[in-house]
Amino acid sequence: MSLLSVDGLDCRYGLLQAVRDVSFEINNGETLALIGANGAGKTTLLRAIAGAHRPHGGRITYNGRDIGGLAAHRRVGLGLALVPEGRRLFPGLTVEENLRIAARGLGRRWTVQTVLDLFPILQPRRHAVAASLSGGEQQAVAIGRALMGNPSLLLLDEVSLGLAPVVVDAVYRSLKDIIAEGATVLLVEQDLTRALKVATRVLCMLEGRIVLEGEARSLDRDRVVSAYFGLRRPA
Ligand code: ATP
Repeated sequence: MSLLSVDGLDCRYGLLQAVRDVSFEINNGETLALIGANGAGKTTLLRAIAGAHRPHGGRITYNGRDIGGLAAHRRVGLGLALVPEGRRLFPGLTVEENLRIAARGLGRRWTVQTVLDLFPILQPRRHAVAASLSGGEQQAVAIGRALMGNPSLLLLDEVSLGLAPVVVDAVYRSLKDIIAEGATVLLVEQDLTRALKVATRVLCMLEGRIVLEGEARSLDRDRVVSAYFGLRRPA
């Protein structure tokens, strides 16, 4: 049985249809990269899975349970965690407080200490307020906060956005450790090279639809680029 199954999902903003008849599955332990140009519908799809956007139609099944009617916090309780674009930390709280506030599943893998071990850059910033952190430090806290919920599915929306390349490398190194621990991950990534490197499977969206899906290792890069930009219908 797949961990997450999305079936015929439609999402709209008024008359604009942002996600059109999207269906896919994620199995335990997979890392699925969702790629596509600006406005393809990636963020909307992630928000719909997390319960932050109410879909117009379709079904979302998690661990065999239809979660379409559940509020976002109930989905967190079931083990779904979203790291949203823009991080959205509590600016007046410290790093440690931002982490502790999301703690769930005490005694399990992720604690304040194991998150700080994963992101050593946060260790000296433990008592600093989030508003004083650099972009990379904030992104590390945002990922750490999601991990504190000990999720079984981690949804990451453009974790490298606005960060210096060296910081992105560090974030991705930590992500590799998280994946090596057996996490199941759905990540939105605009950088094709990074997406193909980290993911086991890739989904490409164009104008709300999935136009290409395949194993990251066997996908031909030119085909991915064509699907990404809608240059021709991929075979
Ligand atoms: P990006 O990489 O730019 O974030 P994306 O692939 O994540 O793009 P979405 O942000 O999901 O795409 O946007 C899909 C479509 O929905 C776009 O046409 C966008 O303009 C529109 N859209 C997104 N959010 C809203 C909103 N709050 N109100 C109206 N339209 C929206």
